[in-house]
Amino acid sequence: MPSNPVAETVASLMPRAKQELTELVAYKSVADFDQFPRSESEGAARWVADALRAEGFQDVALLDTPDGTQSVYGFLPGPAGAKTVLLYAHYDVQPPLDEAGWVTPPFELTERDGRWYGRGSADCKGGLIMHLLALRALKADGGVPVNVKVIAEGSEEQGTGGLERYAEEHPELLTADTIVIGDAGNFRVGVPTVTTALRGMTLLRVRVDTLEGNLHSGQFGGAAPDALGALIRVLDSLRAEDGSTTVDGLTGEEHWDGLQYDEDRFRQDAKVLDGVGLIGSGTVADRIWARPAVTVLGIDCPPVVGATPSVQAGARALISLRVPPGVDAAQATKLLQAHVEAHTPWGARVTTEQIGQGQAFRADTTSPAYAAMADAMAVAYDGAEMQYAGQGGSIPLCNTLASLYPQAEILLIGLSEPEAQIHAVNESVSPEELERLAVAEALFLRNYAAV
Ligand SMILES: [Zn+2]
Repeated sequence: MPSNPVAETVASLMPRAKQELTELVAYKSVADFDQFPRSESEGAARWVADALRAEGFQDVALLDTPDGTQSVYGFLPGPAGAKTVLLYAHYDVQPPLDEAGWVTPPFELTERDGRWYGRGSADCKGGLIMHLLALRALKADGGVPVNVKVIAEGSEEQGTGGLERYAEEHPELLTADTIVIGDAGNFRVGVPTVTTALRGMTLLRVRVDTLEGNLHSGQFGGAAPDALGALIRVLDSLRAEDGSTTVDGLTGEEHWDGLQYDEDRFRQDAKVLDGVGLIGSGTVADRIWARPAVTVLGIDCPPVVGATPSVQAGARALISLRVPPGVDAAQATKLLQAHVEAHTPWGARVTTEQIGQGQAFRADTTSPAYAAMADAMAVAYDGAEMQYAGQGGSIPLCNTLASLYPQAEILLIGLSEPEAQIHAVNESVSPEELERLAVAEALFLRNYAAV
């Protein structure tokens, strides 16, 4: 780490950061109130609100979002005429899953082998601490040069969309020139990374019917149209020989021009069995960040145990289609529906039902905000060049913010690098990453203010 006043302040604040993260991780703030008491989430929300007030934030409020949870908002005014930056994180967490699988208790922040273990330590309570550290470092060295809004969501992991709907109903609240989403992560520890693309997705339920009822396969099999067989044909039509996704009319030729994902590394990360090949074409980055990807999530058909010698009269499947940036999710849904209908054999009856959809996101990496972040990352990471990565999943709030504030640039950074094992047992955060990213965020705010 270079020595400059911001870096020195952040380094000196790390013990306090650890104490604060310990307090925050102790709240079992899973926003599923059938499983975890609401008071745990409320306690975490109060903790965030108190922390913002202590930093001099004004208008600090617990916002009741339409999904019955609370987001925490605060505003820290900067110099007159300064730009406004919105800092996002969420204080809710994934459930701990298999508690017995945790080496140390999930809600007790525990240091082990140079990492801090605990649910939410990286995703995304650590992101909140990162924001606080960055602001404190600036205050100690001349002040925060921009207006800062903080929004801490209370139900991100539930996907209930409370903050999205609240923001749509109160569009003035989160207006900003630039938005920093502190809920992504570096490609690897020590590789400064901004996530510049998120795939969107669509979910389609498909039902195929052929007969009024199941038939004996000995008596009727061979001529009776088999609905399960028809469905299997439909699902198979969604892939080329090499496993690439093939939806009629949907291009799968795009290239990812940012960071590349080494194939052997991907095999290790994905724990692919020896001798089994990857699917798709192009580089790994092309496949997971720039091209569509279909996955069959479920099939309704008789389980093997108890199966009878029958020709099936009906069968259902749930299909997920990940949609790359540049493709409209609604258009992709229409193409997928048309493909399924066109590839249903034997005149079988087919019905499709769309049950979910999210748009893809792509950042404008030529913007001044990106240049300001690249310079900041280079200082915080000892000269390392900032990398552009994609993320296979979607963050619906990104699309909401992008459509509410089309002028605002959105930067996704954070502590969820692969070793953090977010959403799994034994989640952890790297304190070095927390320190470097807090320095980077502080320097970004300063660079950006000067643009
Ligand atoms: Zn998260």
